[in-house]
Amino acid sequence: MTFVVTENCQRCRYTDCVAVCPVDCFHGDAEMLYIDPAQCIDCGACVPECPVEAIYEEGLLPADLGSWLTINAERSRVLPVVNRKSEPLGTAEERARALGFSG
Ligand code: SF4
Ligand code: SF4
Repeated sequence: MTFVVTENCQRCRYTDCVAVCPVDCFHGDAEMLYIDPAQCIDCGACVPECPVEAIYEEGLLPADLGSWLTINAERSRVLPVVNRKSEPLGTAEERARALGFSG
């Protein structure tokens, strides 16, 4: 079991999630973050921190987001760890509003 970052994180990259993760399992590129399933201890702490509800427990992933399980595993393997909160991307507010969140 693991937790999975999905498409709502794209162009947001708020990084509130990394501040609460006890095991540094977030990795990132310029657009979004990914969870390393080999490191995640399934604590669930990151889920309520995400302002755009991008993170799901593996077992609760909606069917249309199922491909993100593999994407997180593959991308986290080759990308650097992100374990410090940083400024969201410049597109974050606009993206959050488009997704129906306050941004
Ligand atoms: S808090 Fe949500 S939007 Fe921000 S980096 Fe984490 S998963 Fe992505
Ligand atoms: S569930 Fe816990 S261990 Fe896994 S990514 Fe979220 S905060 Fe980190």
